[in-house]
Amino acid sequence: MKIAVLPGDGIGPEIVAQAVNVLEILSRDGLKVELEYGEIGGAGYDAAGDPYPQSTARLAKDADAVLLGAVGGYRYDTLPRPMRPEQGLLRIRKDLNLFANLRPAVLYPELSSASSLKPEVVSGLDIMILRELTGDIYFGQPRGHRRTAEGEREGYDTMLYSESEIARIAHVAFKTALRRDKKLCSVDKANVLETSVLWREVVMEVAKEYPEVDLSHMYVDNAAMQLVRNPKQFDVILTGNMFGDILSDEASMLTGSIGMLPSASLDEKGKGLYEPIHGSAPDIAGQDIANPIATILSVAMMMRHTFDREDEAKRIEDAVRRALADGFRTADIHQEGMKKVGTKEMGDAVAARL
Ligand code: NAD
Repeated sequence: MKIAVLPGDGIGPEIVAQAVNVLEILSRDGLKVELEYGEIGGAGYDAAGDPYPQSTARLAKDADAVLLGAVGGYRYDTLPRPMRPEQGLLRIRKDLNLFANLRPAVLYPELSSASSLKPEVVSGLDIMILRELTGDIYFGQPRGHRRTAEGEREGYDTMLYSESEIARIAHVAFKTALRRDKKLCSVDKANVLETSVLWREVVMEVAKEYPEVDLSHMYVDNAAMQLVRNPKQFDVILTGNMFGDILSDEASMLTGSIGMLPSASLDEKGKGLYEPIHGSAPDIAGQDIANPIATILSVAMMMRHTFDREDEAKRIEDAVRRALADGFRTADIHQEGMKKVGTKEMGDAVAARL
């Protein structure tokens, strides 16, 4: 298992250190793990004048999987756009052709009061949002600004999906559903958008290869409503880039803390970039108070999706669950009566249970 480790900026190095600790335990238990470090984001700019240095690109291409912390920091906010840390993220995703973004929204029963929804609505929530990441209105051409014949300014974008782009993400979605409760809900806006009409047709064609999966369709406006009304009705949600951008953020907040949620972005062969969904949290960097669980759970996703090691994935998730059940809490998820710990101590609590 060749893993490129890119800690990045802010709390990135602190939380990645705890995830690496988990990888080292798995390695001690017999997995052949090979780690190589590189710079990305502001760290890349500091080291090589580029948020995605060539050495990092080479490392990421050679690896089977990439573990990333987060990028961004106040110091870099005034740099010209191509030098900004966020460009490092966009470029690595594009460079590795990571088209499938998996974002679970899981709420451990111990944390059900952290959600802004009623505990009975969200307790035990476990949904997976699968967002297409390289197409749609974010990349469609033409796009731009122009003037009408009357001289008024107009802005325009193009929503566009090809059949093959829809089919490849649909296959990932059906396979993901097969590993879970075998329920897939495809979200579109087929009552209004031509792109969505094709999306729905292609998803239904791909569905014929997965008769065990129960497929349903939902308009995106209804999906946004259902996610806060009764989120536990969902197992896997499949959607395009823009709808997925919005719905995955909405779903993540059902769980209360962004410090808990991992993500995976995969290419066609299952190579993946694994990272927490949160940013570099410069406001708390270097203080040993960030929650490392999202990054640790990213390693569990890596075991499952790139290395096909369900046992190790479950072991890591179970260790996290038991650390929470035993009362360990970082500041972001802390409640009365629980044991308040820092980044390292939380990492150690998970490691001990692993
Ligand atoms: P953020 O996610 O970094 O932080 C939002 C809030 O959540 C902050 O109060 C932060 O302290 C808290 N938080 C985040 N992660 C936490 C953790 N693990 N434990 C405890 N608390 C945590 O978002 P932001 O403040 O909007 O952005 C900060 C920087 O991160 C910016 O430069 C932004 O561009 C960048 N960013 C990067 C990514 C990424 O690397 N994938 C994603 C989002 C934002």
